[in-house]
Amino acid sequence: MLKIRKKALDKILTQAEKDYPYETCGLLLGKIQEDLRIAFGAFETPNANPDRKNDRYEIDPKDYMRAEDRAREFGLEIVGVYHSHPDHPDRPSEFDRQRAFEGFSYIIVSVKGGKWVSYRSWELKGEVFEEEPVEVFG
Ligand SMILES: [Zn+2]
Repeated sequence: MLKIRKKALDKILTQAEKDYPYETCGLLLGKIQEDLRIAFGAFETPNANPDRKNDRYEIDPKDYMRAEDRAREFGLEIVGVYHSHPDHPDRPSEFDRQRAFEGFSYIIVSVKGGKWVSYRSWELKGEVFEEEPVEVFG
């Protein structure tokens, strides 16, 4: 399950609209308590995919390290990844699944015509992505 601060979620949704028609991406900073991930902040990372930004995203390892440093400053850690699907549903693609890690939350935002329409969070269980409940706080 994912709990996310409203401010962080709003940032993700705004970012997803701003980057349309390309996929936006970033990392969730927070705390992990067993099966619960609590996200306090959203750390924007540029989409580093060289030629398919409309349906792929990539996070540069340098940006990942910057996010880790930022998290550490606040006594937090990286708890998940978020990205958008321009003109596609908020379900993970096969490509998303292959690159996912267990223990993280994966928020996907569906954006249509430049406006976000829905979002869901997913977690990898073995080889399968399962939807997880999202609770917004603060
Ligand atoms: Zn995707």
